Amino acid sequence: MSIAENIAKIEEKIQKACAFTGRKRNEITLMGVSKFVPLCMVEEALRAGISCFGESRVKEGINKFELLRNSVPEVRLHLIGSLQRNKAKNAALFFDCIQSVDREQIIAELARFAGQREKPLEILLELHTGEETKRGFADFDDLFRAVEMLMNAGTLKPRGLMTMAPFTEDKNLIRSSFRQLVKAQNELEKRFPPAENWNCLSMGMSNDFETAIEEGSSMLRIGSLIFKE
Ligand SMILES: *Cc1c(COP(=O)(O)O)cnc(C)c1O
Repeated sequence: MSIAENIAKIEEKIQKACAFTGRKRNEITLMGVSKFVPLCMVEEALRAGISCFGESRVKEGINKFELLRNSVPEVRLHLIGSLQRNKAKNAALFFDCIQSVDREQIIAELARFAGQREKPLEILLELHTGEETKRGFADFDDLFRAVEMLMNAGTLKPRGLMTMAPFTEDKNLIRSSFRQLVKAQNELEKRFPPAENWNCLSMGMSNDFETAIEEGSSMLRIGSLIFKE
């Protein structure tokens, strides 16, 4: 199977899940998670219609996308792996969006450097909803405190929330994880308007993206299904 064929297959499943739940396909972005994937394969995905990519490491992302981004300006690059403090500057200057913001210290660091950008840096806050590693804000209270800090940092643009469901066959556990993220989104819309600051819900990976669509995902982060045969 080629990358284009993989993407076509995923696309078919996305459309089915959309039809099943009465959602519109254009509400959902398909991100290609390109960590550990060579540039030539990224370019193949790009030709097959993917324009948003996720990397989990700052340096790998910069090395891979520096030239590509100059030649194809519509390419968007998100950081999806946990960010260490000493990488915050490079991340803030290079990526379009940081999806893995999981502590206040990182918000402060990103805010410090994002002022040097032409466009505000987009931010998704990561919520821990049951995944095995303890990534993400632990609960709603931690999340709300982080949001206050985020709203006060003029250089950062809140866009929404991100989570990872536990890696399990148990659909109910996965579903309950995604539902917590939707619930958090509803709370943020009420407490921290305007609601449009929170409209991105990044949830759903290779093994659970159809469930994520059913639960309201607006961004699917898919790696292995696209890039592995
Ligand atoms: C690797 C990764 C993905 C993609 O996972 P697949 O199962 O390969 O689709 C999505 N999100 C995050 C945060 C990741 O680290």
